[in-house]
Amino acid sequence: MVATSPLATPDWDYAPAPESADVVSIAPRYGLFIGGEFVPPAAGEYFATLNPATEQPLAEVAQAGEPDVDRAVAAARAAYGGPWGATPGRDRAKYLYRVARVIQERAREFAVLESLDNGKPIRESRDVDIPLAAAHFFYYAGWADKLAHAGFGPDPRPLGVAGQVIPWNFPLLMAAWKLAPALAAGNTCVLKPAETTPLTALLLAEVIQEAGLPPGTVNILTGDGATGRALVAHPGVDKVAFTGSTEVGKEIQRALAGTGTRLTLELGGKAANVVFDDAPLDQAVEGIVNGIFFNQGHVCCAGSRLLVQESVADTVLDRLKRRLGTLRLGDPLDKNTDIGAINSRQQLDKITELSAAGEQEGAERWSPACALPDRGYWFPPTVFSGVSQAHRIAQEEIFGPVLSVLTFRTPEEAVAKANNTPYGLSAGIWTEKGSRIFWMAQRLRAGVIWANTYNRFDPASPFGGYQESGFGREGGRHGLAGYLDA
Ligand code: NAD
Ligand code: MN
Repeated sequence: MVATSPLATPDWDYAPAPESADVVSIAPRYGLFIGGEFVPPAAGEYFATLNPATEQPLAEVAQAGEPDVDRAVAAARAAYGGPWGATPGRDRAKYLYRVARVIQERAREFAVLESLDNGKPIRESRDVDIPLAAAHFFYYAGWADKLAHAGFGPDPRPLGVAGQVIPWNFPLLMAAWKLAPALAAGNTCVLKPAETTPLTALLLAEVIQEAGLPPGTVNILTGDGATGRALVAHPGVDKVAFTGSTEVGKEIQRALAGTGTRLTLELGGKAANVVFDDAPLDQAVEGIVNGIFFNQGHVCCAGSRLLVQESVADTVLDRLKRRLGTLRLGDPLDKNTDIGAINSRQQLDKITELSAAGEQEGAERWSPACALPDRGYWFPPTVFSGVSQAHRIAQEEIFGPVLSVLTFRTPEEAVAKANNTPYGLSAGIWTEKGSRIFWMAQRLRAGVIWANTYNRFDPASPFGGYQESGFGREGGRHGLAGYLDA
């Protein structure tokens, strides 16, 4: 499908460039990965995961129940007290290095599978998700034998069994963010992928087998929120790491209060991307597009609130609309696609509902002329201008390809508006002036701040939030802290 706009109608078109789905072989049905093997769930229940671009089922995966959680935690405990616990850091490093290498070797397979199960464009799964997942394993392989020099005392100890629950927006990458530091630090893991995107975690289970990790070191349980709830509350779990919605994060925090279980939470966001009048505007427009339309806006650190200085607001908005007219929406497996499918019917409904609220509250809605495919879950790139701070679309996380545009006059006003949110995950600053970048960065309450760029990720750089965006850091040396008793 091709997005066209009256501003920028190309008189030529891109030939389709589809990546072949034949590079992956998907089994009709998957069991749970416990103790190094795929086993059927105790209750014999399964559910389907769909391709959101076609609404076709891809495979059936197991619904793990409480007996399965018990079994996986016991397997992780046995590996912790046994072979993995006895593996010195220099050897843990070799295993992690091997996992990273196998992900690289099978990168194409992972990328296609991720795009099929999640709906994200192959360009992103191929160039961002999969290489970054491998990079996280490489990076933490480097730390595994150097923990005594990481700033956590001379002999930091692992915590034990980590229960890890991840969302659907970056399925393999989030698995890597969770597993790599935990394993480097010497913990064992029980990981639960999201119910709409379990397939790359199950392929990762095969990689873990191939890399020869001792059975039980990593266990992977598919299932829904009930599985996640049983895992995080399990008394055999020493550390819980969760990425997902603020609502569920709060529920987990309440459930664990007073138990002594360690907790890190990576939750939602409503980031401000702040453009000053001296910014290089064409670059800023690229940064705005990358900030909110990357991964269909299913990004916790998405630049979903554009704060633009009033004197350049009209220019920026015009150039932004022209640029959006050139984005191509459609088949996630086409290498030319910029915007893929929304991950689920449920998420599409949420985006649709919040966008309708934006219109009702009086903001001006705009999308490029954009044909949506007949089947699957799709939402056009959407820009709301004339947004006020009280509007729901300025306050609530939409988690879709929807940008709210607000204006400001002075740096002080930009800071006040940027910080007017219960979240605090990320922010962007666009200005030619270095001193202003530092002035702003000191005042913005956000865990990650990008200057003259947006949505840059590196395994060496810590990531995490303030306030309702959660606590704890993933990535970098800081990411080890959540898995060490120091
Ligand atoms: P969610 O929080 O419900 O799900 C995230 C993960 O937690 C999934 O694996 C899910 O099965 C599991 N889970 C659900 N309920 C649980 C519980 N009570 N205990 C333990 N685990 C549980 O998120 P969602 O429904 O997929 O998305 C809802 C909203 O969350 C989105 O619209 C978005 O705003 C936000 N979100 C944020 C991120 C992020 O990266 N910070 C990721 C996904 C979603
Ligand atoms: Mn799916």
